[in-house]
Amino acid sequence: MKTDIEIARAATLKPIEEIGARLGVPAEALFRYGPHKAKIDLAWAGEQAKKPQGKLILVTAINPTPAGEGKTTTTVGLGDALNRIGKKAAICLREPSLGPSFGMKGGAAGGGHAQVVPMEDINLHFTGDFHAIGAAHNLLAALIDNHVYWGNGLGIDGRRVTWRRALDMNDRALRQIIVGLGGVANGHPREDGFDITVASEVMAIFCLARNLDDLRERLARIVVAATRDRAPITAGDLKADGAMTVLLKDALAPNLVQTIENNPAFVHGGPFANIAHGCNSVLATTTALGLADYVVTEAGFGADLGAEKFFDIKCRKAGLSPSAAVIVATVRALKMHGGVAKADLARENVGAVEAGFANLARHIENVRRFGVPPVVAINRFGTDTPAERDAIIAGCRKMGVEAFDCSHWANGGAGAEDLARAVVTLAESGEAKFRPLYPDALPLMDKIRTIATTLYGAAGIAPEAKVVARAQELEKSGHGNLPVCMAKTQYSFSTDPDAKGAPSGHTIPVRELRLLAGAGFVVALCGDIMTMPGLPRVPASESIGLDADGNVVGLF
Ligand code: ADP
Ligand code: MG
Repeated sequence: MKTDIEIARAATLKPIEEIGARLGVPAEALFRYGPHKAKIDLAWAGEQAKKPQGKLILVTAINPTPAGEGKTTTTVGLGDALNRIGKKAAICLREPSLGPSFGMKGGAAGGGHAQVVPMEDINLHFTGDFHAIGAAHNLLAALIDNHVYWGNGLGIDGRRVTWRRALDMNDRALRQIIVGLGGVANGHPREDGFDITVASEVMAIFCLARNLDDLRERLARIVVAATRDRAPITAGDLKADGAMTVLLKDALAPNLVQTIENNPAFVHGGPFANIAHGCNSVLATTTALGLADYVVTEAGFGADLGAEKFFDIKCRKAGLSPSAAVIVATVRALKMHGGVAKADLARENVGAVEAGFANLARHIENVRRFGVPPVVAINRFGTDTPAERDAIIAGCRKMGVEAFDCSHWANGGAGAEDLARAVVTLAESGEAKFRPLYPDALPLMDKIRTIATTLYGAAGIAPEAKVVARAQELEKSGHGNLPVCMAKTQYSFSTDPDAKGAPSGHTIPVRELRLLAGAGFVVALCGDIMTMPGLPRVPASESIGLDADGNVVGLF
């Protein structure tokens, strides 16, 4: 069997102008990065948001398991299938983070015969966006210490600097560090640390900004530190926003690439889906919607985190109104939700599929709460049996939802045509009446409670005393109308990663609230969230290199 990189390399890519031309992007609005990657002129892209918009389709999933679900693969497969049945369709994905490519095997550009290409580039430096975002982030970090060094006019309390440094690398040694060592000339020593670039607030801002002015205003609002009496210090106070915007101005233009089947794909921005909202950039999405009749996009993790934030943060803020949602499920993962161990997944077990269906069922109900009609994609694996697939299809039918066996991983777009036709029917039915889960005006703690009790099946929330006090503070400072961004484990509806299926009656602890004033949301931390990953004992980098012809080998 061919690996993802072998399949990707065997693809015949078309010049990127040809892909752009199919969407009506004129050559002068396309800035090439080599023959197969381009950025779309920012001003031209901005105009597309004003044109009549196509139908937006969200791809989301059940709670992830080590068995793998395949949201990106399904997003690509569905985009190709829509094109195959004669629709003008584009896909929108997040840019992969470079760091994890050298850790565990597995890229973020799809898989099998449903991939975006050139996959090595997309998984590594691509068009340099993440480097630009890291540079903007670290400029702000440097300006903080520099301000303190030159007299600290703003009265920054070194113990209350919350702006850390960023790097697109998995490097656990940098999680907690001391900076400013070595004497007077090197500044004031203080505790600091690094987050991976995708966890930076600059990344979240980048993905929500509508244009350069909006970007600059958001950057200025970033809270970086506090004074001794706890007054917030912002990036605007440090006059950092202008220079940060300069570093980001080229990166903000959406990237265009293609799928293996030569269909257009916008790959732009990539915030974490736990401490941030986990969707590609608003600019790429609105550009695609102005150019195509159907735009398929992916949100991170399972629907409890990814779809909720896509709806409550991205769609609410950008005024987007999705027409349908595809919930990806696999026989393997539902068996794990039904209690089967990873080692036993290859054996047929219809009973376990039926038990694990509870997880899918709750995601179906949840998506409907947003007024968006769902359809289920069963991403086919070689070990699935017809009886197991039929159990999923029958369970969905009882809920009035269609489910389709999809083989795009093995067969490309041809394997997802039934799904594509169903998506078109749903999107054109006018059934979607999108509404966020809660109104802006609901107090912050009530927003968290609403998400926990309606979507997670929890009995309630258990905020620490300092969280309740912080919420009151945020309401008073005028931030109570922001949406909340839930940071919890992606593996369960609860905060216990081992609670598979559809647990209910649990309590959601809330440990901390963090204001991301630039991004425009309040993060609710409900568990330990890693913002700087490490590398495994045997990192993928050990087998990565170049072959005699200069091709990258070992990358996935
Ligand atoms: P997600 O976006 O949900 O994280 P991906 O689409 O990136 O998942 O897929 C994760 C991994 O699983 C990829 O390496 C992909 O090649 C693999 N994969 C996805 N679908 C299948 C399938 N049907 N059969 C075998 N492997 C698959
Ligand atoms: Mg993905």
